[in-house]
Amino acid sequence: MAVAAAAASPCIFCQIAGKSTSTTLLHTDEKVVAFQDINPAAVRHYLVIPVDHIPTVKDLQRKTEDYSLVSHMLEVGKTLIQRDAPQCHQYRFGFHQPPFNSVNHLHLHCFALPYTPRWKCIKYLSVGSIGFVEAEKLLGKIKPLPPGISKV
Ligand SMILES: [Zn+2]
Ligand SMILES: [Zn+2]
Repeated sequence: MAVAAAAASPCIFCQIAGKSTSTTLLHTDEKVVAFQDINPAAVRHYLVIPVDHIPTVKDLQRKTEDYSLVSHMLEVGKTLIQRDAPQCHQYRFGFHQPPFNSVNHLHLHCFALPYTPRWKCIKYLSVGSIGFVEAEKLLGKIKPLPPGISKV
């Protein structure tokens, strides 16, 4: 009976958000869930993902809905990581851009630094506009324009 298997989402992050895995969720609300990265690269390394399946940062648009979703993800990530690693004074929040993303379901990486082991930082370097994009920078890119200013 392959029916049940076919009905399940093939996307691992959708399964996590749908609570159909044994992953421990650090935070859940109607918009986002947060959990530990399976392969941590820092003292603390959390992921915050939207419950809805949004593939990558390229699918985000300059509109209120997307902007408030990403701000909410960042807020949740900051709260969790500062709560759990108050001894760290350096935090980092950002997204992989395709083709550098590992899973095609939008996820915010939240780090309490330093990276462990140290060479892991290579994976999260931002080089120009490729690779890793800081959450704040992405927010600037999708921030809705004030009314009255027309798009160019
Ligand atoms: Zn998904
Ligand atoms: Zn990633």
